[in-house]
Amino acid sequence: CVMQAFLEVKREIFIEPSYHELSYADHPLPIGSGQTISQPTTVMLMLQLLDVLPEQRVLEIGTGSGYNAALLAKLTRKVVTIERHVGLAEQARDNLHCAGLEEVKVIEGDGKLGYEKLAPFDRIIITAAANQVPQNLKDQLADGGLLVAPIGATLGCEMLKLEKISQKNFKTSSHGKFSFVPLI
Ligand code: SAH
Repeated sequence: CVMQAFLEVKREIFIEPSYHELSYADHPLPIGSGQTISQPTTVMLMLQLLDVLPEQRVLEIGTGSGYNAALLAKLTRKVVTIERHVGLAEQARDNLHCAGLEEVKVIEGDGKLGYEKLAPFDRIIITAAANQVPQNLKDQLADGGLLVAPIGATLGCEMLKLEKISQKNFKTSSHGKFSFVPLI
């Protein structure tokens, strides 16, 4: 379960040395390239909404440090994560290796396009604020699948959960306001 994943993954592995003493504070922290690792309580809420079951195929957009991907990897073995910053993607691979989770597939590229090669995904999570859910991601979600994403402005985006009922029919619920770096 999500709580067990948090106990198993050491967040300090994913934090820059200069911030190590803040590894377990409930704060977002800088990870380089102007990006941040999200606040633990926000990550926990998103993972609870995502409701990942073992063996489900999960796609994450916005690898960042790789921390959220590591937590996902504790919930299922099939995790693909996409990061647009090459440097961050490399760092995330190193971090995941340190955490003993090299089975996570870290892809460099534009997450808005999704990852057709391994679609459909049972679960999709976007960890950056977008104005709307990219159509490719909606298309690559399996019927009955769930997508969790902060939608709206960087400051004050709304945490949405979408359930795909059928190709054109999504059930949306709202879960509070947050701040996220933008999906570019
Ligand atoms: N989940 C991360 C934190 C994400 S911060 C963690 O656990 O550390 C958001 C990340 O999304 C940043 O690293 C940013 O570079 C990335 N990002 C922004 N736009 C993107 C896009 N179009 N495709 C892939 N990654 C993107």
